[in-house]
Amino acid sequence: MENHYDFMNDEPTKKRIAILGGGPSSLFMYKRLVDSGRSDFEITIFEKKSQLGAGMPYSTEGAGKEHITNVSANEIPEIVTSIADWIQTVPDAKLDYFCIDRSKFNEYKVLPRLLFGDYLAAQFDLLLAQAKLTGMGTSVNLETIVEDISYEPQREQVVVKTQNQTLNFDAVVICTGHHWPKKHEGKIPGYFDSPYPPAKLALQLDHPVAVRGSSLTAIDAIRTLARNNGLFVKKENGKLVYEVSGDSPNFKIVMHSRSGLLPAVRFHLDDSHLTNDALLTPDEIKQHRTANDGFLSLDYIFDQDYKKLLAKKDPDFYEQIKDMKIEQFVDYIMELRERLDAFVLFKSEFTEAEKSIKRHESVYWKEMLAVLSFAMNYPAKYFSAEDMIRLQSVLMPLISIVIAFVPQASGEEMMALHDAGVLELKAVGSDSTVKAEDKGATIAFTNEAGEKEANYYQTYVDCVGQPHLSIADFPFKSLTEKKVISKAVLKFRNAVKAEEALKSGNQKVFQTENGDYFLEVPGISINDNFQVIDPYGAYNPAIFIMAVPYIGGYNPDYSGLDFCEAASEKIMASLNEQEQLV
Ligand SMILES: Cc1cc2nc3c(=O)[nH]c(=O)nc-3n(C[C@H](O)[C@H](O)[C@H](O)COP(=O)(O)OP(=O)(O)OC[C@H]3O[C@@H](n4cnc5c(N)ncnc54)[C@H](O)[C@@H]3O)c2cc1C
Repeated sequence: MENHYDFMNDEPTKKRIAILGGGPSSLFMYKRLVDSGRSDFEITIFEKKSQLGAGMPYSTEGAGKEHITNVSANEIPEIVTSIADWIQTVPDAKLDYFCIDRSKFNEYKVLPRLLFGDYLAAQFDLLLAQAKLTGMGTSVNLETIVEDISYEPQREQVVVKTQNQTLNFDAVVICTGHHWPKKHEGKIPGYFDSPYPPAKLALQLDHPVAVRGSSLTAIDAIRTLARNNGLFVKKENGKLVYEVSGDSPNFKIVMHSRSGLLPAVRFHLDDSHLTNDALLTPDEIKQHRTANDGFLSLDYIFDQDYKKLLAKKDPDFYEQIKDMKIEQFVDYIMELRERLDAFVLFKSEFTEAEKSIKRHESVYWKEMLAVLSFAMNYPAKYFSAEDMIRLQSVLMPLISIVIAFVPQASGEEMMALHDAGVLELKAVGSDSTVKAEDKGATIAFTNEAGEKEANYYQTYVDCVGQPHLSIADFPFKSLTEKKVISKAVLKFRNAVKAEEALKSGNQKVFQTENGDYFLEVPGISINDNFQVIDPYGAYNPAIFIMAVPYIGGYNPDYSGLDFCEAASEKIMASLNEQEQLV
């Protein structure tokens, strides 16, 4: 990339980098830039809210007092100061509000999300102060919405347009994060397209409420709804019970989940950062792809980055699954989960997780699934379309249940609600539908007895989680219109398989003029450095993206802060490499 010169004095000017969005991705990206010690960088940060660091999940946009992180302090990638140290600086009144005893703070515990947001904001401030010391100029634009981005190839400049400015940059990193599209919310009373911001669910409801989904997003909604219609009480024997309010005796929550499954409970992780020394190295993956027509085989990565790790960690479990393909493995695990009543299994996993945490002993088959999911994420863009279909339809549903890591406190509340008869779970199949009514919605599905059921609810909350968004949802329209970005696709290895998928009605399969078949996957196309790719296959050296909802096809796992850390490292390496090429 061309270096930029100030023609007046012939001195090279600074490289101007913009970070769009000021949440956790932005924080990790900024940390990389500060740590680089480069005083020839000039950074501009744009954030639509009035605070940096907290982003969506850790601010009132995504959390209330009752919401907690699903990772504990020791599992959070290092930023500047540790949470244990930071807690000592938090005013008493704030700790009291969150019922935290400073002297008993333990880094193996999860945190209130709003408090964690304060920690992230404080870390951003520390980084800004460090940048000042190293001479890296930073301009922070709060309450500034980035409306559009365009690219000028002749000048190799990215143009960022806000409400009242148009600015040029040498590179931008898109960190705009979560987006929850609204279909009916705001138009149909009682219909919520997501549970965020949670304050909107602070409602007294004297009727059954339908929740679609049973994972962490559903648990967020349940915690808010339960508090507004009753009380959790800790009994003398330590058991938590729920007492429904006299004002809403008919209040009840009906969760709807695929096959009636509940997520697994958080346990002790041996390696809190989802890594393992024995994982395939980038070179090994490259060699494998060279010998495999450029594709990464799902079976290969399952063997190498799951089974092989388990052979060491849990030889007995390994013996049971060592000859299984992914499909058999998933059937084997699901069979047990589906056979047992979901709440019975939940209670037994809760006890298992308690033991695991107390003894600092992992549940390896689950931890290794989280490791596999994280390891697969980065090279997922090299799967064949056939393998991506297998991943999405077979392995991902299991992974999303097992590695949701429901925090203990949330688990206790779910059990208390269920014991009080206030929380019910309905198993629905893939044919379930939700119809918006004049008020609320009707959910129709085939029940476990094979009968059709349709139930009307005055209040409905869609809690399936952050959807993978398509290129049509991409917020910066000039990049789409000027063909700077393209939709993510994966090639089929075998035309017969593509034709079968087409015949079975898969509308995401298409054929190009030269006869190759492709599968359209969610979001936009990116390369290994998180740079956007145009429809002709060329990467853009100046536009990077870390906003996961828009790259879900090539980056299917949402590992939160671990992703922020890993992706920012790649982007920083790419920025440094570009400088060396000048
Ligand atoms: C409810 C919820 C709970 C979660 N809990 C955990 C957890 O406990 N642990 C974990 O590891 N991960 C968790 N995650 C994963 C989580 O997504 C990441 O940890 C993290 O929030 C991702 O950060 P981000 O900066 O990419 O996105 P966001 O948090 O969405 O931040 C994006 C920022 O960009 C700003 N922005 C957006 N558009 C614009 C614009 N046009 N102009 C200017 N600014 C803009 C937003 O205001 C926001 O501040 C959770 C996710 C959700 C949804």
